[in-house]
Amino acid sequence: MSDERYIPETLFDELGFRMSFAAEKIVFQGQGELQSLVLFENKRFGRMLMLDGATQVTIADEFIYSEMMSHVPILAHGHCEEVLIIGGGDCLIAEEVLKHQGMRRCVQVEIDKAVLDFSKEYFLEWNRPFFEDKRVESVIADGMHYVADAKNHDRFDVIIVDSTDPQGPGAVLFSREFYEGAKRCLKAGGVMVTQNGVPFFQPDELVGTMSIWRNLFGDPYAYVAAIPTYVGGHMTMGFATDDKALRAVPLSTLEERFGAARLATRYYTPEVHKAAFALPRFIRDLVEKDRGKA
Ligand code: SAM
Repeated sequence: MSDERYIPETLFDELGFRMSFAAEKIVFQGQGELQSLVLFENKRFGRMLMLDGATQVTIADEFIYSEMMSHVPILAHGHCEEVLIIGGGDCLIAEEVLKHQGMRRCVQVEIDKAVLDFSKEYFLEWNRPFFEDKRVESVIADGMHYVADAKNHDRFDVIIVDSTDPQGPGAVLFSREFYEGAKRCLKAGGVMVTQNGVPFFQPDELVGTMSIWRNLFGDPYAYVAAIPTYVGGHMTMGFATDDKALRAVPLSTLEERFGAARLATRYYTPEVHKAAFALPRFIRDLVEKDRGKA
């Protein structure tokens, strides 16, 4: 047996499923105030961050998640100037958001300063713009408290909830109270997208979010992407808006907006954007479960 140390992902232990990554080098491993953190290097995925036993980001495949969580809502919106990111401690989504020249303001509300400090020290090669761009406002706070205090905040065109899974400090970001507060932070015609798990493993997470959104938004839906380290097939991203047109932006319009934004992407294309909303039957059934019931 090689002496490499394998780091297990324990997120799906209760399902009897575990995946582990060989750690060529452990950069940090320890219990922060809020979460346990492991930062290590893996031969295939490069630098990886795990929080409370759940893979958060790997340098090799983060582009997929970061591009789909940022460019889909921003290009669907069409004239987004202000973005709120809840979570996002690795700052890699913010880095994508900042590529949009029309962006005037990007507020990120991350609960765990340790994650932010980590990200600055170990991911700077990839997330440097977050720490240097004047359009960024970095807030260390619980996202729940931030949106609950919405009366004192401006409104945003796009809200991106780049949270951990519904465990530990992340659990509150899947609650009705949080979504009600987030909605108060959205401008008219705005859209919120959320990290909403892998439905093959976490169907209840998606059903739960949609059942809350049904009473809050005119068009509660989801889209999918395939992310190697978020195992279990498609990952879903929640897409909440009152403007049904945002989910049905014509391909030609997305192509115009994408061309004008001059984005160098590795996963996102206007065609992939449109196709991402064509949900496999079992995922669509989860999104529409109990629709029409009070
Ligand atoms: N892409 C990852 C995923 O899909 O699981 C998420 C990445 S990002 C590291 C998740 C961030 O959410 C973490 O930095 C964590 O500290 C933060 N977070 C968890 N609960 C939070 C809360 N209540 N308010 C703000 N940030 C929170």
